[in-house]
Amino acid sequence: DAKREGRGIVRVFDESMDENVKLRRSIEGGLSKAIEKGELHLVYQPIVAREGLEIVGFEALLRWNTDAHGPISPAVFIPIAEESNLIHELGDWVLEQSLDMVKDWPGQYVSVNFSPRQFRRHNFVGRILDRVQRAGVDPQRVQIEITETAIFDDADRAAETLYKLRQMGFRIALDDFGTGYSSLYNIRKFALDCLKIDRSFIDGMGRERESAAIVQSIVHLGRSLGLGVIAEGVETEAQVQALRVAGCSHLQGYFFSRPVEAAVARTMAASLYLTNGEDDLTVDPPA
Ligand code: C2E
Ligand code: MG
Ligand code: MG
Ligand code: MG
Repeated sequence: DAKREGRGIVRVFDESMDENVKLRRSIEGGLSKAIEKGELHLVYQPIVAREGLEIVGFEALLRWNTDAHGPISPAVFIPIAEESNLIHELGDWVLEQSLDMVKDWPGQYVSVNFSPRQFRRHNFVGRILDRVQRAGVDPQRVQIEITETAIFDDADRAAETLYKLRQMGFRIALDDFGTGYSSLYNIRKFALDCLKIDRSFIDGMGRERESAAIVQSIVHLGRSLGLGVIAEGVETEAQVQALRVAGCSHLQGYFFSRPVEAAVARTMAASLYLTNGEDDLTVDPPA
């Protein structure tokens, strides 16, 4: 009958799909059950101020540990979720957890990643405000991280959304800055608090003159627009020195701390400063 025929067609199609498509399907299927199965959790990476190196906030980063395949990177599953409505379910969960967490910290903000599709969702502003109010969290303690892709496709609408969010007190960070195709000139249109320089430029700083020059111009741009500039992916002391000289206002990366579990973040937040570890890779509070 037609039903069986339909199934047959699906099977033939299935067999002709390449491994990649199968993997995507399997990830999508697993992800749709990940929340109820308790396979998701957030880790938190400190963001420190250039002066004094105190912890001003933590970025929340999603982790997925599957029974079947072990941990799967958000760099793999977020783009897949982004292609379906799953991203909304995941995003709501991430926001809820982040708001819960920020209440445990004395004053730091939580920096939450939002994909382009989340940002463009109908009534994004109303939804996020509702969540924050219900959680009893001051919007100033929430930083919204979006990428250039999220705002430049429909710039006028994005500018309005950002303006409203900023009016309400949310912080806005432009993530992975320098990798998109935004015209630097147009950045002025958007109500932002800071630019996050993409890790690839920080990584290249010591090796190629181009990267160092790009970092320097992003810092100049940010400063002339009155924005903070966060360097992400800072791994070495040489990079810390170079970024301080360049005038970067905030730093984040493995040099200071990898993303850590909630309980560890709580301890770090309470102490305000990263304490000096035995490996001498972390930094003492100022004297
Ligand atoms: P992102 O927002 O640009 O996050 C920075 C990534 O760089 C994170 O990878 C972080 O663990 C990593 N990182 C931080 N410091 C260093 C360093 O010093 N060296 C190196 N090599 N890497 C460093 P992660 O956690 O794998 O996340 C990858 C991407 O997945 C994120 O990039 C973000 O775009 C996305 N993502 C993660 N969590 C969420 C989420 O809750 N929602 C959404 N929409 N996207 C998320
Ligand atoms: Mg981010
Ligand atoms: Mg980033
Ligand atoms: Mg990135």
